Parts: sequence; C-alpha cells; structure tokens
Amino acid sequence: FENLKNTDPHIYKSMKKELERQERNIELIASENVVSISVMEAMGSHLTNKYAEGYSGKRYYGGCEYIDEVETLAIERLKKLFNAEHANVQPHSGANANLEVYFAMLEPGDTIMGMNLSQGGHLTHGSPVSISGKYFNFHEYGVNPATGIIDYDEVRKIAHEVKPKMIVAGASAYPREIDFKKFKEIADEVGALLMVDMAHIAGLVATRLHQNPCEFADFVTSTTHKTLRGPRGGIILCKEKYAKAIDKAVFPGIQGGPLEHIIAAKAVCFKEALSDEFKEYKLQVVKNAKTLANELIKRKFKLLTDGTDNHLILLDLTNKNITGKLAESKLDEVYITTNKNSIPFDKNGPFVTSGIRLGTPAVTTRGMKEEDMKLIAEAIDLCITHDNKEKAREIVVGLTEKYPLYKEHKIMD
Ligand code: PLP
Repeated sequence: FENLKNTDPHIYKSMKKELERQERNIELIASENVVSISVMEAMGSHLTNKYAEGYSGKRYYGGCEYIDEVETLAIERLKKLFNAEHANVQPHSGANANLEVYFAMLEPGDTIMGMNLSQGGHLTHGSPVSISGKYFNFHEYGVNPATGIIDYDEVRKIAHEVKPKMIVAGASAYPREIDFKKFKEIADEVGALLMVDMAHIAGLVATRLHQNPCEFADFVTSTTHKTLRGPRGGIILCKEKYAKAIDKAVFPGIQGGPLEHIIAAKAVCFKEALSDEFKEYKLQVVKNAKTLANELIKRKFKLLTDGTDNHLILLDLTNKNITGKLAESKLDEVYITTNKNSIPFDKNGPFVTSGIRLGTPAVTTRGMKEEDMKLIAEAIDLCITHDNKEKAREIVVGLTEKYPLYKEHKIMD
C-alpha cells in the first residue's frame, strides 16, 4: 500500500487502524473470516478495470477473452465443489443471489415460506423491511420453543395451508444441521420449488460435513465470504433446467456488469476449498465450536439447543441478567468481537436482544485449537459473569499474540 499511503493518507490511516483492530481482537462473528493473501491479490487487481456484461462467449463488450477464462474456471470449480448442475458466479452478494432466484421464478404477490428472522432466518427470507417481504407474500416458520430445533411438523402444516410457490430453507443463526431432505419432501407434497440459502454453512457443505443441499433443492444460494473463506460476494447453483432463467435474472434482470476481480477471487477461494487443507480446517472449525460450546456450558451459559453441530453458537443471556447489546459492548472492551442476536421469542427488540451469536471460522483460520477455545470461554465468562475486564483482556492478548494475523506477510507498514 506504498502508493495509497502517499496519495490518500486519510483512507490509508483508517485501513491501517482496521488492520490493527483485526490483529488485536478475537473475531467471533460467525459470518466473518480471514481470507488468504491470494484471494486478496485477486480482489485488489486490475480485473476491476473491465466491463464484461453478459456471460463467457456472449459478452456485450470487447476484450473479454481473458475475463472469460477467469469466469469459466470459477464456474467449473464451483460446480465441482458442490456437485451442481449449473452455477452463476456473478451475484454481488448473498442478498442479490436470493432476490435473483425470486425474480427468476416468481411474480410479485406470490406466496413463499421462509424462516422467521428472529428465530434464525435472514432478512431476505421475507422480513417486512426487506424487498423480499414487500414484494412477496411470505409466511414464516420457526423453531420449537422447547427444543430450539426447526419445527418440521409446523413447516409441513403451514405449507399445506398456504400452498407456497417456493419454500426457502437456510438460516443466519441456527446452530444445528438442517434437514434439507425433509424440506424437499414437504416442498414436493405441495408442489413448491425449494430454495436453500446455505450462506452460513457453505464451507461445511463443501467438505461434506453437512448434507449437500444441491442433492435436493431446485436452487441453492450462498455468500462466498463466510465459512467458505472467499471474497465478499454471492453465488447461485441450480438444476440445469433452470439455468437460463437464473442467468437472465442475474443479468440483465437485477445486475449490470459483473465484478470480475471478485469473480477471480471467488475462483481462488473455490480452488482452496477443494483442497485437503480446507477439509482439515473445517473439521477444526466444528471441533472448536463444540469445545467452545461445552466450555461455556461448564460456566453456566445457556446455549440454544444446548450445543452446536456447525460453526456457530447462540447464547441466551437471560440467566446472566445482561442484554445482547450490553454483552456485545462489554466483550468489545476486552477485544472480543461478537454480535448481539435475537433469540427465539425474544422479549427485547432487535437493537437490544437477549442473545449473542458466536462463531469459530475466523479464529480457526488464525490457527486456534481446542485448548484456545477453553481460554476464550474463560475470557467471556470473566467479562460477562465476573466483570473482570483486566484478566479477560490478558487472556485475549495472550492468544492474539500467539496467533498473529497474516503472519508471513507484512500487509501495511
Ligand atoms: N443469507 C444468509 C443466510 C445470510 O446469513 C446472509 C448474510 O448474513 C445473507 C444471505 C446476505 O448476504 P450479503 O450480506 O452478502 O448480502
């Protein structure tokens, strides 16, 4: 960043402070990760200069021969990774990918089913503040209040009542494996299309630590920047018979020119995700999440569903007499980054909440293992239960110094 340092010292300074924050803090936001230098190199490259509306071999601009190579490779790798019939790598984000599937297959006012936002779903699964909830007639399903597990009987009941054109499965804050096969059975019973949004668990699916939704769903959407550890962006996978409709919905339906520097970075990420090292990494992510969950339970924290099958944990803080908002800010003071999160049937609103969501993808990329999760649980407990910030901070500093970020590369002076 030598050049930027001189041409735009203000932006350089803020970027440097953000790098220092990432180095100093233990990152437990379940939707974040730390990408490789290769992914960053592709993202920050001259590919950003190129307009390439259209698709490989059928562009609306000249000079796309090398861009075509990049995008074709990204598609081939992605199809292999998830054993998918068709892939579109152009969605700018997870939200776009979801909207593009809706736009391809539905008319405004059509009935869809999605998971309730406060019980683990995503804004784009029908929240009234999102275009999804405004343009479509969404019906929500949720979790069993006693177990915290998706209530599949309720899903079936609602589906038979409202006869949706599409059912959306997938979540942003759900610690257990989702039964996509069951969702497909329900969708088939009522003649609905099935869309799975695997944004949170894509890395676990890529390594088959979670059921592959491509085996069951008509459409699978994802982000590439969470457990998949790639650039910020989206993807759509679908059965071959929907390929044309999906491609048309992405461009020219919703988006203009694709971000080819991001698509190159997605291709790099897919190659990494196909490696044995990535499989090892994902196994460790799950081991770390289970250890962190058990260590928190030992310290009398209440976990939704009493544990986790994946990379994330939801803490119900009601027994600790602290809101999610306050817990988030207290943890930030000891350099632990988390996000407040609604728990099912939360008495507090979405800006306060009664829960905290924790995830292990980023700390695992940094190299942390089970013994480090014990220390993180101890630091969280010291901070939340015992208000001992000094001791908590000491543990965090010990860990971040032991596991430096980008240890083999100096990113900024
Ligand atoms: N779908 C799910 C399940 C998510 O958790 C998220 C992001 O948190 C998205 C979609 C949206 O992704 P993006 O922020 O890239 O639009």
